[in-house]
Amino acid sequence: MERRDFIRIAALGAGAALTGAKMLRGGTAPAAPPAVPAHPAPLVGLPISVAPLAEGDLDALFDDMRRRAGVNALFPFIYSHEPHRSAAKTGQFHGGNHAIPHLQYYHDTPLTYADMRAPEFGDVDVLARVIPVVRRHGIGTFCFLLEDNTRLANIPHWETLYEVDHHGRRTDRHPGGPCYNNPFYQNFTLGLVEDYARSYEIAGVMWGSERQSGLLNALSLSQSNGQDPGGTTCFCEFCQKKGRERGIDVERARRGFGEVEKLVLASRAGTAPRDGYFAACWRLLLRYPELLAWAALWIDSRHALQAAIYRKVKSVNPALPVGWHVWQNMSFSPFQRAEEDFAAMTGYSDFLRPALYPSVAGERFVRFVAGARSTFLGDLPPGEALDVLYHQLNYGDEAPLDYVAATGLSADYVERETRRAVADVAGSAVQIWPGLGFDVPGAAEANHSTPESVSRAVKAVFKGGAHGIILSRNYTEMKPENLSAAGAALRELGVI
Ligand SMILES: [Zn+2]
Repeated sequence: MERRDFIRIAALGAGAALTGAKMLRGGTAPAAPPAVPAHPAPLVGLPISVAPLAEGDLDALFDDMRRRAGVNALFPFIYSHEPHRSAAKTGQFHGGNHAIPHLQYYHDTPLTYADMRAPEFGDVDVLARVIPVVRRHGIGTFCFLLEDNTRLANIPHWETLYEVDHHGRRTDRHPGGPCYNNPFYQNFTLGLVEDYARSYEIAGVMWGSERQSGLLNALSLSQSNGQDPGGTTCFCEFCQKKGRERGIDVERARRGFGEVEKLVLASRAGTAPRDGYFAACWRLLLRYPELLAWAALWIDSRHALQAAIYRKVKSVNPALPVGWHVWQNMSFSPFQRAEEDFAAMTGYSDFLRPALYPSVAGERFVRFVAGARSTFLGDLPPGEALDVLYHQLNYGDEAPLDYVAATGLSADYVERETRRAVADVAGSAVQIWPGLGFDVPGAAEANHSTPESVSRAVKAVFKGGAHGIILSRNYTEMKPENLSAAGAALRELGVI
């Protein structure tokens, strides 16, 4: 990367909000991008639930982040349907936009103000409350949009935005979600990022979607267990039209997914394919090449929405960095790694945040192996299936299957995945800010982040060549001593 480009993006990441990108209310774009600070620091980001931002003493909160870990970029989950803990217990969570939707930016979508707006904290506009305070602490605000992929029955008008499976049913649970080819969902998403970029003095936008193509879901190639192989998406009217325009035989694609469903259900019931799992899966792809074509359609559509988000934000303020949270499933799946081609994303990305959560990686890997053994890796004993994946993913010496849930993956995994991402985007101005997870909730035996393991992993991120780091996944989950250990490592490295 050219040094000039590095400084440009680093400056945007760490300093855009600090130098004051004045956003004008009412739809007027600012005249000029913010000035570049003289000595930009690498980005040290921290995601946080909105609850502590909506209530309580913000100065004490931001003081703590600065003091422990030199945080200079806050990533509030400002648009999210993920329940915070207290609401999860009551089952009453609605979620959505925790800022105030400014309706002039939303065109041609069935969603109303009430559908978009999170009601959990009354009239509080979390962004408006946070930004002036956090800036005093030298911290910029990145809007973290975590796409909804779980339909919430208590939110009207979302129904028609959701994907349709190969049986023609609207999806109603993970891994389905709103359809990227649905123009009303596109309109809503683009309105949302325009609203943030115009209405608030933000430092950047990060959008995340923890989904993959329907083919991989159907083949149980996921860190999430027990997915319905009959729920493959998307066959909505918009996807069918786009598929036909690509010359894909929609009905054959649908039939192909029906055959995948039969294979997976038989496998789960204990019936192995006569010629072996790998051959059976490969044969399905030979007989129904439409399966791969349909997967490519989904992947391309997702990336097209990301490119549209990028263009929309840049049309408001070219200086605002835009980037992507990348689901950790890619750490276990060479299939999803193929879908998320970082090199191909450089044209519409300023930064990438691959989720690297070493402590919970073990249990998630075990689940991935269990799923993969019902299809492509079904011919292999479980331990050997994991070894094959380690080789395919270039993970070196990690724990065997019986132990990996308890040990997690090592700092070496963090370094290798960071290095790979950095190499993928080499020659572009894209920055890699790994989302290094610690204290991420998981099974009891996986809750083993320690100050020592956090320190090692932080150092691995920078040894891998990262341009910054997003301490993850949520401030509210972190033990204070582990956040301090991250800060100590960053000081030792001279990052802060
Ligand atoms: Zn669709």
